[in-house]
Amino acid sequence: MSSASDSDIARLNCGVLVLGAGLAGMRAAWAAKQAAPHLRVLLASPRRAPSGSSFANSNNALGVQAPSPDAASEARDFAAEALALAPPGEADPELVRVLAEDAPARVAELLALGLNFRREAAGPLARFSGCFSPSRRALVFDGLRHAHAAFSSRLRTLGVEFLHGFEALALHKDDDGRVQGARLCSLCSQRGGNAWRRLDVRAGAVVAAMGGPAPLFARRMCGPGGSGLSYGLLASAGARLVNARYLQFFWLSEPGRAFVNPGDLQWPAALAELAAARRGHCPVAYGLPDSRLDQTLLDLRGPDGVARPPAGGPPLALHAHAGNGGAEIDAHGRTTTAGLYACGECAGGMHGANRMGGAMVLACLVFGARAGAAAARKALGCAAASPAKPFAAAPPLPGPPRDGASAAFLRRLRQGMDKNALPGQTASPAFLTWLQSAAAQKPDVPAARERGRLLALSALAVVTG
Ligand SMILES: Cc1cc2nc3c(=O)[nH]c(=O)nc-3n(C[C@H](O)[C@H](O)[C@H](O)COP(=O)(O)OP(=O)(O)OC[C@H]3O[C@@H](n4cnc5c(N)ncnc54)[C@H](O)[C@@H]3O)c2cc1C
Repeated sequence: MSSASDSDIARLNCGVLVLGAGLAGMRAAWAAKQAAPHLRVLLASPRRAPSGSSFANSNNALGVQAPSPDAASEARDFAAEALALAPPGEADPELVRVLAEDAPARVAELLALGLNFRREAAGPLARFSGCFSPSRRALVFDGLRHAHAAFSSRLRTLGVEFLHGFEALALHKDDDGRVQGARLCSLCSQRGGNAWRRLDVRAGAVVAAMGGPAPLFARRMCGPGGSGLSYGLLASAGARLVNARYLQFFWLSEPGRAFVNPGDLQWPAALAELAAARRGHCPVAYGLPDSRLDQTLLDLRGPDGVARPPAGGPPLALHAHAGNGGAEIDAHGRTTTAGLYACGECAGGMHGANRMGGAMVLACLVFGARAGAAAARKALGCAAASPAKPFAAAPPLPGPPRDGASAAFLRRLRQGMDKNALPGQTASPAFLTWLQSAAAQKPDVPAARERGRLLALSALAVVTG
């Protein structure tokens, strides 16, 4: 695979470049265009079809924490619960406050978009408790394709331009260290061979909404289309990460992949209280007493990574579900790197080590809207934002296929993460050394190698975070 020369690289200018077309990226692009209607807003993603955990997760439904606008106590309870769940990670009380404060407006938008919310027989919205929270404060909508279509239609009406078939492999910075665009890459067929197609996008501001780190694991249950590149890209642009080691993991039966809550297994009577507490949440907890049950199962794993509970129950394996950390942001989605904003599962600080079920969807919407609007304000008046003719998009690709070398690298990395990066584990020196050497490659190498470098950086952020 050869590196593209500068003259092979197409160029494009815009006001705001949003990377990733999940709930966070879609909401950010929407907010950017709404805040500055004349600004050119590009939404780049590898696939045109619904992708990622937002629009292609296997449940075909999402819950969203929705503290009522009519009861101030619900917002207070939500914030108190979120902060109590944070240790041993860190949550920023200001971000948690903003999450609760903006919730009613963001949830009202989902209703106005016509999403299929579950309702009581008599008509009112049905309310559910979420993982780690006994309060019935969450709403649930079904039909993720429908949700994707509703968001896409809203964005098209506003004039957001879609750039499908590309993934970001570098963030460009100016001499002052300010992010001013990204290099996007796609693998496409050229005269029977494969060549990376590259596109340099110059932007007044960039919003990272590339999802979380679960794609770094062999056993995973995130939606298809995730790349696992987000932490690596953010870190290589100098953005500080927070809570990167705290991923949510679920136990699934092996084979069959049916969800099993360890609280429902047979435990000695002395552990009954822990089992009851464990039934209150699906993901493995960090720092809570009931994580003892999960550690017991982890210790029972064989070399194949499968735990066979002695008192019966199906063989079980841990699957990576979603990250609770990401780029440290402020209340406007600003990362610690100028010109770079982040939202959704690649942003952190509004959740700690543990998070309530439904709080991530809320965070995607709240910080997507805030990051998009702030990025648009930043981009206004910037040279790259000057109007340009709409991008004549290439035919959308189903997603960038991988060349053999990067597929083999990814396979090895995923197997290593399954062995070294589960809750409570310390990575082996050999795995760390391998990751460090892969991450130490020089940037701007051929795209397949650059992809490997960024994946290794993402993985390092998780195992050393
Ligand atoms: C099965 C399942 C059920 C869940 N249920 C809930 C729930 O009920 N409530 C809740 O709050 N949370 C839930 N979650 C978590 C939540 O769905 C996700 O954390 C959230 O949807 C992530 O949204 P996002 O927009 O940040 O990322 P995603 O939806 O994952 O989207 C990421 C986007 O970025 C694109 N991308 C990746 N890399 C690049 C790149 N380099 N350049 C450009 N684009 C890129 C991807 O293709 C995709 O379009 C669930 C997760 C799973 C897996």
